[in-house]
Amino acid sequence: MVVRLGGYARISLDRDGEELGVERQRRDYRQVAGVRPGWEVARDYIDNDVSAFKRNVVRPEFEQLLVDLQSGVIDGVIAYDLDRLARQPRDLERLIDVFEERPELVFCTITNDIDLSTSDGRTMARVMVAFANKASADTGRRVARKHRELADSGKNGGGFPPFGWKADRVTVDPAQAELITKAHDALLSGTRLSTITAEWQEKGVRTSRNTEKPITRVAMKGILTNPRLAGFRAVKGEKHIGSDGKPVMGVWETVCTPEKLDAVVAVLDGVKTRYKANKLNNNHKYLLSGILRCAECGTRMMANMRASWKEGSKGSRFMYRCPASTDGGCGKVSRAGEPVDKFIVNLIHDAEARLKAPEKASIEWSGAVRLAEVEQEIGSLIEAMNGKKISAATAIAMLEPLEKERDELAYERNRHSVEQAQTAAAVVDLAEDFERLPIERQRAVVMKHIRAIVVRPAGRGARKFNPELLEVVWAA
Ligand SMILES: [Zn+2]
Repeated sequence: MVVRLGGYARISLDRDGEELGVERQRRDYRQVAGVRPGWEVARDYIDNDVSAFKRNVVRPEFEQLLVDLQSGVIDGVIAYDLDRLARQPRDLERLIDVFEERPELVFCTITNDIDLSTSDGRTMARVMVAFANKASADTGRRVARKHRELADSGKNGGGFPPFGWKADRVTVDPAQAELITKAHDALLSGTRLSTITAEWQEKGVRTSRNTEKPITRVAMKGILTNPRLAGFRAVKGEKHIGSDGKPVMGVWETVCTPEKLDAVVAVLDGVKTRYKANKLNNNHKYLLSGILRCAECGTRMMANMRASWKEGSKGSRFMYRCPASTDGGCGKVSRAGEPVDKFIVNLIHDAEARLKAPEKASIEWSGAVRLAEVEQEIGSLIEAMNGKKISAATAIAMLEPLEKERDELAYERNRHSVEQAQTAAAVVDLAEDFERLPIERQRAVVMKHIRAIVVRPAGRGARKFNPELLEVVWAA
């Protein structure tokens, strides 16, 4: 009995170099068919230069093959491999339909033993096509990315690579990215930008733009808030908004998430101090300045160096004092600084240890759904306006309140991220040596636990530190 096979061969242009020529595929499957008793290749079905992956491409010979299999013109199919025949799951399913309808059909490939006439073979084929499909999709995305990349590089004007990336502007520079990540974490846990700048200067970090001078605070701010870090296209340091009203995304590797970037921007823009306006500002050189309050008049006490103190002197280097009446205080209460600091630090260590035990779970931000809705609405409005479905005047009138709500929600989200980051960082702090933290971090930890410390007058001549004269008001 003669088995008349349809031989299928295909070459596509999107896979260069290793591509098997159609002639070679045909020779190979004819050779295999030749050694099987009764097998003959009745017709070659050759699709040239057509990708089986691309959805919109019609492969005329493949279509003919399906028809011929269905109608019994041929008794089976032989191909170089499954990849030539079907890369789209949709094509594979159509082929499988035919084989299920006509179980007597023969199926053979040169490279592997897929047999569409068995159920195991069909399962295997589906898995293989699914994987090949994904690989092709990835390749497609890579190709598309490369194209956009080339287009972008024109606009970039071939300048210096941004800090955080290698010269190709796409690949992350691991050492620089690590610096950025660490700086972000430090900022979010309360370290000041100037402290981090000093650290970078000490390390000798340079930008590629200026390799001569130490890095500046302004340059640092630019580096740490670069929208590019989270994948956003940036124009003059701001997210670039596309015609659809959404930020345009770049094609490079990212260093952080958009949420983290927003939180960092919020911290550096002072959003944090705005929403914490009711809290004490953190711009002090001494641990408890402003946290201590005079018991006589309630005024915040500030620290200053003891004029008489010298290296090797006895007693505390500095004093906390109620300001003089000209500065709003009564000037009656003062206390040696170092013993107070030491006493409070011990209290903080205990409080941190208690807090550490049950790790605080991170809390989801409740506005996420509404923010997504608002962004969606803005997007469809702009789309409708661009598509001339509604007038620009109407669109703008509707856009304004939405944009306002979006900005408010985004602000809320940033605030939430900052709080979450601070909670997380503050709990981790204990693992570090408290004394080695920069002063603003130490103060942040203190303020997390303590709202105020009321200092009662010690009385004349009382030189010894007495903790009972301190009344700690704990934070709720
Ligand atoms: Zn006072």
